[in-house]
Amino acid sequence: MADHDVDLFVIGAGSGGVRAARVAASYGARVMIAEEYRVGGTCVIRGCVPKKLLVYASRFSDEFEDAAGYGWTVGESKFDWASLIANKDCEIARLEAAYTTTLERHNVQIVKSRAAIEDAHTLRLATGARIRAETVLIATGSRPHHGTPLAGEQHVISSNEAFHLKQLPKRVLVQGGGYIAVEFAGIFNGLGSEVTLVYRGEKILRGFDDDVREHLMRELGLRGIKVVTRKTVNGVEKVNNGFDVCLSGNEQIVVDLVMFATGRRPNVEGLGLEAAGVKISERSGVMVDPYSKTTVPNIYAVGDVTDRINLTPVAIREGHAFADTVFGGKPTAVDHSKVPTAVFSEPEVGVVGLTETQAVELLGKVDVYKTSFRPMKATLSGRDTRVFMKLVVDGETDKVVGCHIVGLDAAELIQAVAIAVRMGATKADFDATMAVHPTAAEELVTMREKAVSYGRAAAE
Ligand SMILES: Cc1cc2nc3c(=O)[nH]c(=O)nc-3n(C[C@H](O)[C@H](O)[C@H](O)COP(=O)(O)OP(=O)(O)OC[C@H]3O[C@@H](n4cnc5c(N)ncnc54)[C@H](O)[C@@H]3O)c2cc1C
Repeated sequence: MADHDVDLFVIGAGSGGVRAARVAASYGARVMIAEEYRVGGTCVIRGCVPKKLLVYASRFSDEFEDAAGYGWTVGESKFDWASLIANKDCEIARLEAAYTTTLERHNVQIVKSRAAIEDAHTLRLATGARIRAETVLIATGSRPHHGTPLAGEQHVISSNEAFHLKQLPKRVLVQGGGYIAVEFAGIFNGLGSEVTLVYRGEKILRGFDDDVREHLMRELGLRGIKVVTRKTVNGVEKVNNGFDVCLSGNEQIVVDLVMFATGRRPNVEGLGLEAAGVKISERSGVMVDPYSKTTVPNIYAVGDVTDRINLTPVAIREGHAFADTVFGGKPTAVDHSKVPTAVFSEPEVGVVGLTETQAVELLGKVDVYKTSFRPMKATLSGRDTRVFMKLVVDGETDKVVGCHIVGLDAAELIQAVAIAVRMGATKADFDATMAVHPTAAEELVTMREKAVSYGRAAAE
């Protein structure tokens, strides 16, 4: 190994790269990590963390309104976008510094530069400097993708820019139906903007359980978000009073901000992957085996760049497993099943496991329990909102194979439910668990009536 400058070279200091670098270094590896933008990556700098801060900000308006029914008179409330963004930026800078310190404490050498692969053991930095590495980890993440080019695309922003707007737009059009689109629609709506959400499909949140998709669409409507489905943005033109957006079907809408959240693409371009022999999968992520090894034996890849499940905890787990495998002598494959996930919309969505459709396809014999009810808090506040919960149960084994929640704190709830689902808890286990009263969550252990019961035929 003497001819190598480092044992491990990590490209990208985001969720996956930072964890891999730190753990590999703790096993005694000499590690260098290259970052072309800011240490912390998407999650910390322009993803989960700043987004959740904006979500928190956006929810105060509901709280002020709801307080009246509980006897409070809240004085005139005023919101200042500039203060929110400045405070958010301070927190992000603090986190970036904390990530940097952690890496430095573990003797990981940070190079603030873009890096590319020259050959399986050689990395090239933007300065032209070359580094020899025994092992290479690609952890370059993903970036927003706007789909087919359209007239006026230069006027369209992505989530990256949304975090740095100079002012809160009065009228916003968000195109997309995934979690980022839905979350930003909720953020702008809560902060007082007039929001139109445009989605080409029939229902938002593709891939989620159908009942969840329908329930959330209704809830967004109740909050005043105009959800326009089966339409796309065909062009954007700058006009005197904002942007004139042309939708399919020749519908025009004038707004102050057009944001697309139409998907993300793995950052694979310009990395030298082809020359090194690293293959890309059909879905355009770096192809890897269960140990995150690419088609080149000493090159690995983790996180969004592999396009498996694009979430921070997954990238972190993959980075950790890679370090355990290669430097810790503990070969570890990440289990990508039963990964809980949340949408920080208003109201929140929390899900784990199979949707009703997936369960019927996979298992055939399936029982579904579901409930929709007015949460207690909405009684005195008078807010028109309902909670939705669904349990999908394997009809053969009685195991709960899916749980789907739309409502207050669904993200917090699903984390705990996911433990039970992962452990193979049965519906009988849920039923035997004492309720916590009065909560919304108690419905999870008190649903007794089957809403639907599917037979065997589909699987046979
Ligand atoms: C708006 C938004 C909200 C999100 N919300 C959530 C959420 O609530 N929960 C959740 O779990 N996930 C969320 N995600 C997804 C999450 O951020 C990603 O799954 C996660 O950051 C992936 O980690 P990663 O290590 O693969 O890549 P990243 O965190 O993207 O890190 C990759 C890093 O590599 C750097 N880089 C790229 N190319 C090079 C190069 N050639 N040389 C040097 N450096 C390079 C990039 O600058 C970046 O810093 C969100 C994403 C977005 C965009």
